[in-house]
Amino acid sequence: MEGQQIQGPATPLRELAEELADLEARDLRRQLTEVEEVLPGGRVRVGGKVLLNLSGNDYLGLAQDPRLAAAAAEAAARWGTGAGASRLVAGHFRLHREVEEKLAAFKGTEAAVIFSTGYMANLGAITALVGPGDTVFGDRLNHASIYDGIRLSGARLARFPHRDLNVLEKLLREAPPRGRRLIITDSVFSVDGDLAPLRELVALKERYGAWLMVDEAHATGVLGPCGAGLAEALGLTAQVEVHMGTFSKALGALGGYVAGDRRLIDYLHNRARSFIYSTALLPPVLGAIDCALEIVAKEPERRRRLLAEAGVFRQELTAAGLDTLGSETQIVPVLAGSNRAALDFAQALREAGLLAVALRPPTVPPGQARVRFSLSAAHAPEALAQARGTIIRVGRELGLAKA
Ligand SMILES: *Cc1c(COP(=O)(O)O)cnc(C)c1O
Repeated sequence: MEGQQIQGPATPLRELAEELADLEARDLRRQLTEVEEVLPGGRVRVGGKVLLNLSGNDYLGLAQDPRLAAAAAEAAARWGTGAGASRLVAGHFRLHREVEEKLAAFKGTEAAVIFSTGYMANLGAITALVGPGDTVFGDRLNHASIYDGIRLSGARLARFPHRDLNVLEKLLREAPPRGRRLIITDSVFSVDGDLAPLRELVALKERYGAWLMVDEAHATGVLGPCGAGLAEALGLTAQVEVHMGTFSKALGALGGYVAGDRRLIDYLHNRARSFIYSTALLPPVLGAIDCALEIVAKEPERRRRLLAEAGVFRQELTAAGLDTLGSETQIVPVLAGSNRAALDFAQALREAGLLAVALRPPTVPPGQARVRFSLSAAHAPEALAQARGTIIRVGRELGLAKA
């Protein structure tokens, strides 16, 4: 708040309040938005108003699918609501094995392991695979959980500018000859909605004796003939050592996974601390994942329709002069520039019935604040057409469109 006075003696809580006030002054303070009701068609009620939700990751519309809810209830009735222990203790149910086998078949790999979240999958896998003396090469726009994993591992970080293969190659050439080399990339980047240059990354990792880990969080269920992700789409499954992803987005549930060679998965069972020291994923969540994997296999039209709608969305916004930052997927950002401009854009859209969130630093580079739109198969085509019109009108009113 403007001119807010923070009183009292210097205490840790006062320091926190000062820091929050400072964030507020720089338009960087984040607030929780309460969803009062989840409605059909990818709509939500917020502040008493029905909005089209363009900021969720429920890309296939499965989070509200009654079949997943029924599968979750059935799994809870049969196995209980909690697993009661970690996987290596007594929390490894037949249900876990069956879902992991189904997942491995879906990913086209020998084996797979499920973690409680995608965040924990990245932390667990990265800290298990690298440590001091090793080097991790990461795209600047990789997800925060990847960077947290690298930091926690103690490995050396060699960060390269977004999709910059020349800098990556230079870093690989200059890396210490000893120690492991691990290249990590998101396959679909969550802030730009563009794709990793996976073919080129495979060529580089082979040339320099590195491993490649791909985070398919936004691609699982969306890209590829079977919906397994970008590696599948490009026919590169066997060339990627570590396939990571999450069930929390297109699959409408929760949980992260790592898929790959049987030896990799056995190793993670022994060395991934976020797998070992945390209670096994809940049976109802596994029931939902199992059902979502069936639907992804049987209903490819969901992802096809989503990607077709996303193509129209990007094309119309770009044609209207808005900068969609090279998006190639169902995630379509629109550049606003300053933090204030992004916040004003999101606010004006909300008043016009659209829920879309402003992304600001440190999530995006300074000066590149934006509003990000995420499409879902749950959105009706007419609702999306109307949304495009609104975004273009509001974007123009705020001076975000190039002439
Ligand atoms: C969302 C996300 C994660 C974390 O997954 P959760 O299951 O939500 O913990 C990891 N990586 C990327 C790229 C993501 O977008």
